[in-house]
Amino acid sequence: MQNPTQYAPCPNCGQSNAKKVSFIWLGGALGPSMFTHVKCQNCNTEYNGKTGKSNQQNTVLYFVVSFVVSFVVVFCLCGGFALLNMLGNS
Ligand SMILES: [Zn+2]
Repeated sequence: MQNPTQYAPCPNCGQSNAKKVSFIWLGGALGPSMFTHVKCQNCNTEYNGKTGKSNQQNTVLYFVVSFVVSFVVVFCLCGGFALLNMLGNS
């Protein structure tokens, strides 16, 4: 038994001719594979090919998470060095 449609139909126009998006500006290269991010060839709506729902929330979440992670990493690096300096000076 094979599913004729590779991805869930478009939430906007109902077509199932979506193509997987390999790159989105917010999620980078990792985001699309995480969310099965596909784009409708008919109306250019981008959505989740697995659930047929918009990926906007996920993309925002992914953006927030990656932003927080990079912030924490930078903060830890800078804070770590500052802390080492403080410890070294005391
Ligand atoms: Zn569509």
